[in-house]
Amino acid sequence: MSKKIAILPGDGIGPEIVGEAVKVLETLRENGLDLDLVEAPVGGMAYDLHGDSLPDETLSLAKAADAVLLGAVGGPKWDGLADRSKRPEKALLGLRSEMALFSNLRPAILYPQLADASTLKPEVVAGLDIMIVRELTGGIYFGEPRGIGKSPAGERRGYNTLVYTESEIERIARSAFEIAMKRGRRLCSVDKANVLEVMVLWREVVNEVARDYPDVEVSHMYVDNAAMQLVRAPKQFDVIVTGNMFGDILSDAAAMLTGSIGMLPSASLDKNGKGMYEPIHGSAPDIAGQGKANPLATILSVAMMLRYTLDEAGLADKVERAVSAVLDRGLRTPDIYTGNGTEVGTSEMGDAIVAAIAN
Ligand code: NAD
Repeated sequence: MSKKIAILPGDGIGPEIVGEAVKVLETLRENGLDLDLVEAPVGGMAYDLHGDSLPDETLSLAKAADAVLLGAVGGPKWDGLADRSKRPEKALLGLRSEMALFSNLRPAILYPQLADASTLKPEVVAGLDIMIVRELTGGIYFGEPRGIGKSPAGERRGYNTLVYTESEIERIARSAFEIAMKRGRRLCSVDKANVLEVMVLWREVVNEVARDYPDVEVSHMYVDNAAMQLVRAPKQFDVIVTGNMFGDILSDAAAMLTGSIGMLPSASLDKNGKGMYEPIHGSAPDIAGQGKANPLATILSVAMMLRYTLDEAGLADKVERAVSAVLDRGLRTPDIYTGNGTEVGTSEMGDAIVAAIAN
């Protein structure tokens, strides 16, 4: 049966990079993958067209689709919008909450060919391939009560609540175990169970879910140690699962180990594995329209879509191998060009990937 993919290019470099990812999807379709690609406006360009950064038709399409491919949203043109609910970035939050995307997958992959782009020593990061699974819709960012009030002594007092229910922990743990099964079968759960009761429960529930996945080796690490280990010896990790705030911080640190923002994909999944796939970077207004943007993060987001929603691991491998082969040939967009190889533009890079897939 045909799989429906909602294509939401968005703003800035969004249309350029998504255009190259669509070339990849079309190539896979020509080779037998049954896909129905439907494009819709989102972000600032949707606001300009319809007065809303997430029009109803776009949201309905995203909810009805099997997967969503998003470019990026936002830019200086819309930064001054007085009505904050219409801001392009609100479209992202709207899509995440309406589609119930609670599981955020942020890989940190460093292709050995790009090891000199990292600020860490090449031997520490070359070949790095870890996946951080972050709980996205709960924890301290959403917990109640929250606010700024007064203490009994009359001074101002700010407070938030770190709360997780058993079912919230169970579904993110299950999502992470499923991902570990598709990778190296090692899962490290990161918590702060030595200080926080909510994290004692987190650890208990992760261990309960682990019984259903005897093939996955489970370990637990406190978040302060995890932060240290990520920069000391990041290649020890396969999959990391953690709560919303810890994941927010650790996934940014892990992404920067690779030193190349234009290379990193991401996915956000619901409980059925349906998802939204997007590069981790933004709309890069400074280089928009110049044909300079690196499309590889978006193309690697397509690979994640193939692996995690469309259950086409073989095709995901094929796309990832094509990226590696093109890097081996020395092709580099300006953001990853360090003086060796050939500097190419966005569409040349996309065309090279398509040609490598066809080989
Ligand atoms: P950014 O990620 O857009 O850009 C940061 C730097 O990285 C820029 O110098 C940019 O040129 C470069 N860069 C980013 N992606 C690149 C690529 N594919 N190839 C080559 N270079 C690339 O972050 P920013 O400048 O802070 O934000 C710009 C706009 O994007 C803002 O409006 C922000 O709100 C929005 N934003 C959107 C998302 C999203 O849609 N998910 C995420 C982050 C930021």
